[in-house]
Amino acid sequence: MQTGEDEYTGQVAGSGPAPYQVTINLSHPRRSRCNCPHADGRRVICKHMVALFFTAFPEEAEDYIKEVEEYEREEERRREEHYAALRSYVKSLSKRELQEQLFEALSELEEMGRGFDW
Ligand SMILES: [Zn+2]
Repeated sequence: MQTGEDEYTGQVAGSGPAPYQVTINLSHPRRSRCNCPHADGRRVICKHMVALFFTAFPEEAEDYIKEVEEYEREEERRREEHYAALRSYVKSLSKRELQEQLFEALSELEEMGRGFDW
């Protein structure tokens, strides 16, 4: 609930049995308070403050979620492009080059302790 001009207070469930008492100050974020172990007595932003903010402003939460989803789609596209490039690179190699690359890759895996069982 709103407790000041730019201040909101609420309870946010945490990992402990009792919910945390959280106060966020929109114009002075560092005056926000929460009694969780991470933020208690310190001038830091914790996830409970973020949760309270998104509870008080569901529209901002929606925008934020959309942004995250857009970012994830973008990442997925980049990953697909990367693997497509990798695939056409592999296709461009000769058998001899493939054998060398495969040998190097397997050797690297072995050095990382994830070798094949022959
Ligand atoms: Zn907290």
